[in-house]
Amino acid sequence: MKLPVLLAATLSVASLAQAQEVPIRASDVQADVTFLADDLLLGREPGTPGFDIAARFVAARYQALGLKPAGADGTYYQPVTFREARLAGPPAVTLRYGGRAMAIAPDRALLRASLTDRAVAISAPLVFAGFGIDRADLGQDDYRGIDARGKVVVVLSGYPKGVDSELGAFLGAEKTVMAMRRGAVAVITVQTLQDRKRGTWDHLIESVARPARTWVGDDGQAFVRARDIKVSVMLHPDVAERLFAAAGHSLDGVLAQADRAGGRPGGFDMQASADIALTSQWRDIRTENVVALLPGSDPVLARQSVVLSAHLDHLGVGGKGPDRIYNGAMDNAAGVATMLAAARALAGVPQRPRRSVLFAALTGEESGLLGSDYLARHPLPTAGAMVADVNFDMPVLLYRFTDLVAFGAQHSTIGPIAAAAAGRDGITLSPDPIPEEGVFTRSDHYRFVQQGIPAVFMVPGFAGDGERQFRAFLKDHYHQVSDDLSLPFDWEAGALFARVNTDIVLGLANAEQPPRWFAGDFFGQQYAPDAPKAPKP
Ligand SMILES: [Zn+2]
Repeated sequence: MKLPVLLAATLSVASLAQAQEVPIRASDVQADVTFLADDLLLGREPGTPGFDIAARFVAARYQALGLKPAGADGTYYQPVTFREARLAGPPAVTLRYGGRAMAIAPDRALLRASLTDRAVAISAPLVFAGFGIDRADLGQDDYRGIDARGKVVVVLSGYPKGVDSELGAFLGAEKTVMAMRRGAVAVITVQTLQDRKRGTWDHLIESVARPARTWVGDDGQAFVRARDIKVSVMLHPDVAERLFAAAGHSLDGVLAQADRAGGRPGGFDMQASADIALTSQWRDIRTENVVALLPGSDPVLARQSVVLSAHLDHLGVGGKGPDRIYNGAMDNAAGVATMLAAARALAGVPQRPRRSVLFAALTGEESGLLGSDYLARHPLPTAGAMVADVNFDMPVLLYRFTDLVAFGAQHSTIGPIAAAAAGRDGITLSPDPIPEEGVFTRSDHYRFVQQGIPAVFMVPGFAGDGERQFRAFLKDHYHQVSDDLSLPFDWEAGALFARVNTDIVLGLANAEQPPRWFAGDFFGQQYAPDAPKAPKP
């Protein structure tokens, strides 16, 4: 553990920031993970006492550090209402083709309750649109020659092989919005061969069994971007095969084409229609982001804030077997605990950072990055303009990592700042080792990116024994009840993780300029077209 270092006043502010050291203790990380992953918190599901107790705990930590309440009415809470929708009964899906009507069993046509319409009843023709990507400017025009107005669009999951994985994840996440803009009323998805390998049909059944959730705006409306898409259905491959065959196309052929590098199956009329009916029950729940501010020391730059985000929620109770509690020790008690360790260090640096630092323990990540979406779209008046996000989600603290994967680093000037900060702690940055997972779009930092704010999200890397440990965690514990305190944590790895992130935040908060997207970067162009850009080194 290094001690605080005092430096001569002649050094520049930037180098001063780099050299400041406040001890980060492994025992602090251990203490907070131990509390947050306790069985008594019952998996910290939003809207339950377990989550609210976790929120009180984080607020108490903020208060003990002397951080300023950044929430509503002088509190540490940004309240948000979530709407939760469950199916009121089994939905009815009937496919009509070749003069016949086929009722599809609910476990072969997976869909979730609607957050916008209590009753949905659709009867519309089907049209196939390949991968369903509508970005002619990127050379992806799967709707060419197709009229989707008033129709159910059938698309393949994923994106063409060879497309950059982060761009692909973006395109995948935009598909329902693209279908809506083309006038479609519903989307049916058929899995590619690659996606079939990544997760079993049973996993999909499990994931759609969870209630649908979104946040509710001040107008009382549930926020859904693709409002006019009334339902999205995942169709079992066997059902899809017969549907394609009836239209004179082989699903195997289409999937084989999609499985080739650059393969993009063309669209066609499916000579079929679908009747889809479902009713939904709604429940509104109150929950909160837990937010605190370390005010900046520079009177001008203090009006900007660097956000540290970590989701506080997890999956609640419901696992199979005797242990039914999803404790989420790694996901994301470890992220919150390391963020709090960084907060402790930042609150203790002798020279307060120039920009303000906003700490946000977020709700509803597991329900679709909801707390972060709400915060990114409802900036806190106390925190000024959010100029960067450093996200903490599921750092796998099982081994003494020597490298970190910095998701998002290559898109903006956060990258070089992060690399320099990590280098001072003896850590190198590695490129994304699991591009097929599309991680960049799957945690809270992405909601800030979507509002034009550059972000970075670090996870322990694959060097040395890292890959084996990381993959074993994903396979055996990720989103399972066994992600709990019985895992062999390396608490010193937690302290190191907090240290590197603290140094990144200091670099961002003390820099002369706020971070900028690199010129020509896709996400910068997409979400911050008018913001000044930096040349890519
Ligand atoms: Zn998770």
